[in-house]
Amino acid sequence: MPKSPQSHLDPRQPLVVDTTKLPRQPGATRALNRVVPAPADLGLEMISVPVGSDLTLDASLTSVSEGVYVSGTVSGSLTGECGRCLNEIDKSFEVSIAELFAYADSTTEETTDEDEVGRMQGDLLDLEPAVRDAIVLTLPTNPLCRPDCPGLCPECGVHFDELPADHSHEEVDPRWAALRNLSNNKE
Ligand SMILES: [Zn+2]
Ligand SMILES: [Zn+2]
Repeated sequence: MPKSPQSHLDPRQPLVVDTTKLPRQPGATRALNRVVPAPADLGLEMISVPVGSDLTLDASLTSVSEGVYVSGTVSGSLTGECGRCLNEIDKSFEVSIAELFAYADSTTEETTDEDEVGRMQGDLLDLEPAVRDAIVLTLPTNPLCRPDCPGLCPECGVHFDELPADHSHEEVDPRWAALRNLSNNKE
């Protein structure tokens, strides 16, 4: 029998959960509600959760035969830059998490694939990878300040919101076109 690996998780880390108080009988549950500071680098280049901002965990722990199942939601705030107009994005998010953490010494078929399932270390489990995945996977690589952001005029760089509907750099009046040709010829 392999020995359970020594725990290297720090129970003081905000996303490390101590399950000591969760009864080991399958079906037993405990609420997991906490507000923790967001870890660094939680997000993508254009949009992310500000480090240290509030992450709200509203979840439950359930004992199953293989380990502990964590399910619920994580919510918080996102800041970033609109991919079309570069305006600041500041909005809230809520994502679901559902993750099984197998007991360290659990060796049944469902839990033998190390990549597929989280492992507990003693009574501790680390929610950070699951929270990170849940948030990052929902973020757009090209975030927008609003779905219909019209972006910037490619000619003058002004936001289309601040321009009249008929804004154009085309000289539609042939007389203006003629004048422009005239001035071009002088150069
Ligand atoms: Zn925008
Ligand atoms: Zn323009």
